[in-house]
Amino acid sequence: MKTVYLDQAAGSFPKAPGVSAAVAGLLEHGGGNINRSSYALSTGTGLQVMAVREELAAFFGCSACEELIFTPGATQSVNLVLRGLLRPGDHLIISGMEHNAVYRTAHALTGAGIALSVAPCDGTGALDLDALDRLFRPETRLVMLTHASNVCGTILDIPGAARLCRRRGVPLAVDAAQSAGHIPVRLDELGADAVCFPGHKGLLGPQGIGGAALSPRLARAMTPLITGGTGSSSDSPEMPAELPDRFEAGTGNLPGILGLGAALSYLRSAGLDRLRAHEVALTGRFLSALRGCPHIRVPGPPRPEDRVGVISVDFLRRDNAEAAADLEERYGILTRCGLHCAPLAHRTLGTFPRGTVRFSLGPFTAPEEVDAAAQAVLALA
Ligand code: PLP
Repeated sequence: MKTVYLDQAAGSFPKAPGVSAAVAGLLEHGGGNINRSSYALSTGTGLQVMAVREELAAFFGCSACEELIFTPGATQSVNLVLRGLLRPGDHLIISGMEHNAVYRTAHALTGAGIALSVAPCDGTGALDLDALDRLFRPETRLVMLTHASNVCGTILDIPGAARLCRRRGVPLAVDAAQSAGHIPVRLDELGADAVCFPGHKGLLGPQGIGGAALSPRLARAMTPLITGGTGSSSDSPEMPAELPDRFEAGTGNLPGILGLGAALSYLRSAGLDRLRAHEVALTGRFLSALRGCPHIRVPGPPRPEDRVGVISVDFLRRDNAEAAADLEERYGILTRCGLHCAPLAHRTLGTFPRGTVRFSLGPFTAPEEVDAAAQAVLALA
């Protein structure tokens, strides 16, 4: 039986062409480390890493490439921003569609004297801007919102939220774990101060590499999450003020960075617009095939243009976990069931605590695979 991988929201597979060669190339020929030693092997790899930083900074609309910070992934970037910025007495607003990367970190900070408000979203996962507007307080220090839901793909109105934030001079941070590589994610276009992204999902790179794109004002206000050696200002016990060193202590994931660089080159050559058109077409195809079945619920916006390629199915007459197991055993279709690390989102969508079966599509997903998944859902429903 052929396996159909529809768990792209958890981690893209296959990776973009060129990724594994770039990772292996660094491990086999790249030398030991960068930013420490001055021989050509080290500086050569350093230049390659710099080139990827420049590419990513341009991709995410940073005003300077130093404002692109490498981290192990979206979770680490969210922690970097929230823990780096917020202090006791501050107020943080998040949305009712957050992943635990944001929700648990925000919740942990309430134990350190930071007040937390959750902006409600409607039953499709769309952000209620009026309700968000009413949550601001004089001590609101940051708004952090997911860009696209990892449960049902809803794209939140980030530019709308940014307008509210700008009116009050409050920075906006975006969790782009499910949007980067799918739809444009640029600090300048979104009006955001931080974009936290993983390399291993929509960007089609390896696991263990991601980053944070920061605005200059946010970078200036943040303290480092991790301290240690940077290969710069080594005479000082303080972390250097310069970016990116201020937020990049220790040895980075060099194979991951070069792998991500290769993935980015692929995305550029394939064209984000073309990949997005493919995603919208497949999402629409899947949603249309499921429409009208009375034994399932498919939360999220009805129009494929309003979501990324993430479709959740709630089986109304059977257990969702059993349905996911049957999808694998009987049809070879790989999905993810449960709460998807997003209990807040499931509460918003009315699918807590039972969760859903999530199908997530990628640039290499074929129409026939979507058809097979839809037929299997209808048969199991
Ligand atoms: N935010 C969202 C919306 C996610 O879907 C995920 C992962 O699924 C994360 C954050 C965490 O990403 P990572 O595992 O790369 O840290």
